Amino acid sequence: QLRLRSALALVTGAGGGIGRAVSVRLAREGATVAACDLDKAAACKTVWLLGGQGSEEVAPGGAHAAFQANVSESGAVRRLLEQVQACFSRPPSVVVSCAGITRDEVLLRMSEDDWDKVIAVNLKGIFLVTQAAAQALVSSGCRGSIINISSIIGKVGNMGQTNYAASKAGVIGLTQTAARELGRHGIRCNSVLPGFITTPMTQKVPQKVLDKVIGMIPMGHMGDPEDVADVVAFLASEDSGYITGASVEVTGGLFM
Ligand code: NAD
Repeated sequence: QLRLRSALALVTGAGGGIGRAVSVRLAREGATVAACDLDKAAACKTVWLLGGQGSEEVAPGGAHAAFQANVSESGAVRRLLEQVQACFSRPPSVVVSCAGITRDEVLLRMSEDDWDKVIAVNLKGIFLVTQAAAQALVSSGCRGSIINISSIIGKVGNMGQTNYAASKAGVIGLTQTAARELGRHGIRCNSVLPGFITTPMTQKVPQKVLDKVIGMIPMGHMGDPEDVADVVAFLASEDSGYITGASVEVTGGLFM
């Protein structure tokens, strides 16, 4: 059953571990995917994996397409939404913000720059994408589902990640508030809180730390990007038609 037939899905961070798995999953459900990343080559690779052309020059009828944008820059996000709408002649009805970074350091030594960079991408980036996508949907009278990738760290904190935890906690509040404001326009907003997922982001974590975390996970292992993508596909589809403002944990039971 293709739950997302005729949906246009914009995925940011689509060249990364979770963003790529989300793109693949949404495409399998029938969606056309606009894959955006700061790293254009990585976005193109995702589109290539989907069987698209790997460029924004899509064939009429809507093949998947790749876009480059820095989500922390308002002008870039505005242009992204314009390009996507010009490409597909409609706004995306599914928007998944997966772009995110870490700059870890303990509070006592964290630089202002590391704080600002993480907040700019992880929190302001989600504000800009959510706002631009919602404006496009409301002005064209379309319904939609906005899914923001937060983290379980936003609820429980983590050593060396004051910036990251603050950004991810912010995403939960932003998404709940957007859900309150946009429900009457037929736009649902939910956040997903992954636990420890095997991606390039967690490859940077020392094995000693990973082993300790794995020992705390009831399921006994890290998650795969596909575990997150399954939940995103559910939230994107009408199967979750009465769910908005939710923060769905995908953690294997870590920190329940
Ligand atoms: P990843 O590093 O594999 O992918 C992140 C992607 O975001 C990269 O392709 C990167 O180029 C892109 N990106 C970075 N800055 C950007 C910007 N300014 N504009 C546009 N794109 C940008 O990481 P991932 O593990 O796939 O993480 C995806 C999301 O999931 C992130 O928000 C992350 O915080 C969150 N998350 C990950 C885990 C995990 O265990 N991997 C756990 C919880 C939450």
